[in-house]
Amino acid sequence: MPENDTTPAIQFQGVGKRFGDNVVLDGLDFSVAKGDRVTLIGPSGSGKTTILRLLMTLEEANDGLIYVDGDPYTHEMRGDKRVAIPEKRRSLVRRRVGMVFQQFNLFPNMTVLENIIEAPIHVLGKPKAEAIASAEALLDKVGLADKRDARTTQLSGGQQQRVAIARSLAMEPEILLLDEVTSSLDPELVADVLGVLRNIAETTDITMLIVTHEMQFAREVSNRVLMFDGGKIIEEAAPDTIFTSPTHERTKEFLRAIL
Ligand code: ADP
Repeated sequence: MPENDTTPAIQFQGVGKRFGDNVVLDGLDFSVAKGDRVTLIGPSGSGKTTILRLLMTLEEANDGLIYVDGDPYTHEMRGDKRVAIPEKRRSLVRRRVGMVFQQFNLFPNMTVLENIIEAPIHVLGKPKAEAIASAEALLDKVGLADKRDARTTQLSGGQQQRVAIARSLAMEPEILLLDEVTSSLDPELVADVLGVLRNIAETTDITMLIVTHEMQFAREVSNRVLMFDGGKIIEEAAPDTIFTSPTHERTKEFLRAIL
């Protein structure tokens, strides 16, 4: 990436999303610079997960455009018409985005290593030996080198989540979406997962978009926090600012309730 490349990693332009009569996002604009670590906070139902799901193409926006590294993601303008991008082109851009879910979603009938090498081999077409070597390096990074041949069902929740993180990274994403990745873990396992993510934030330039209720994690890993309410960004700031001196009344209320 050239030093002077200012194309945002992610850009939302007038994005609207409705479920029936429920308008979740209405003309949402925001962008995330390359290498940024942005945490989305806000009350339940404010649209945070929907934003991640749009970026995973698990949902489709009703209006507006999303760009990933300057490329239209699911829709583009042709003249003054908004048209869907054909699946083949879509999947190429989509590959740049990885996601880690609250519920891990590992393949239970495979070993840890098999989980990690599956997509690099079958989707990226990597030679098996190369996929295995990268997977081993990633397992080392997430502190699970000794679990290479274990079944995922034999692992604790925290270990499964660390495998899920390694599996996402094996696809070499430019953007990593993290959706409440510690929410289903016992408190004593949370620290390990957060430590792994902090390490990834410190040692890579992957752009991260994070939804979490762990404000300590948001504070340590992200450089920007966006506060959502009713599908809109009502405040944005560096974590130290927003957590110590929020300006918006709704942000104060939200932080008082969860901190
Ligand atoms: P958050 O992550 O901030 O809690 P969500 O993005 O999950 O918020 O949800 C925003 C709104 O969208 C909520 O009102 C929720 O009920 C609604 N919603 C989300 N997904 C669906 C869906 N698949 N079908 C219908 N409504 C949905």
